Amino acid sequence: MVLGILGIVAVVLACYSHNNHSSEITPPTIKLYLHESNQIIKLEIEEYVCGVVAAEMPASFALEALKAQALCARTYACKKIMEDRQYPLNADLSDDITCCQAYVSWPQFEDLHPAQYEELKAKIELAVSSTRGELIVYKDKPIDALYHSTCGGQTESAADVWGTDIPYLQSVECKYCSASNYYETRQVISYQDLNDISGLVTGSNPHIEISEKSLSGRAREIKVNDQEISASQFRQLFNLPSTYWEFKNEKDDLIINSRGYGHGVGMCQYGANGMALDGKSYKEIISHYYKDTEIYKLNYQDN
Ligand SMILES: [Zn+2]
Repeated sequence: MVLGILGIVAVVLACYSHNNHSSEITPPTIKLYLHESNQIIKLEIEEYVCGVVAAEMPASFALEALKAQALCARTYACKKIMEDRQYPLNADLSDDITCCQAYVSWPQFEDLHPAQYEELKAKIELAVSSTRGELIVYKDKPIDALYHSTCGGQTESAADVWGTDIPYLQSVECKYCSASNYYETRQVISYQDLNDISGLVTGSNPHIEISEKSLSGRAREIKVNDQEISASQFRQLFNLPSTYWEFKNEKDDLIINSRGYGHGVGMCQYGANGMALDGKSYKEIISHYYKDTEIYKLNYQDN
């Protein structure tokens, strides 16, 4: 099957590869900007995907979850490359999580996991090599493969976070992330701190409530007495794990029960691990979190 836009993906990637004469491409080499050391390294995209999987998902997770993460990492990167954004030092991608995905080199990974380094490295390499060149596509285009740590039971739609409806980023039920430490957590904010940090006047007997929720149940707007603040701003101010809350007003404090960690859009990583442990394949994981998508394999030359 000839896939229009994917032909373009292949051509774009071929520009980065050493052989652009045939329909087969060598895995492209990319220039990655390392934001902490302010330098660029060149590496093959599949090698880069290993470093992203190592940085973005616990390597202790089941193999099928790591494979799903490899597809997310590769797809996210290809989409970014195609967008042709500018990164410092003329790089193709950055390891700064404010714009791209995190990345660790193998020596850095060894420092983090000295005892199990060889075993975990082999597992990540297997997850990446066994899904080599595979991208998640929707209507023949690489998707925006967003993911987050823990959804807390229901993922969030892109429309409810960013106001743009994306057909494959809808809210789906997730029964698989309860093993995460962030599935349910409790935070206590004193009214005094709330007042001091947010500048919202709490007064002597404040009433704080979630005044608007998204379809998934996450907070959109908070009301402190008669003052409003957006849930995302409130989350940022108090460093809360998500916007999936229940509030309880106590005498001196606001008690918050939070579910999940992260924006909640796309693949729930702990959910992916739960699905894998339940015997699901990486393809089932991908199609659960990214509705109506397909998997397309880039036509790489053999190793
Ligand atoms: Zn989940």
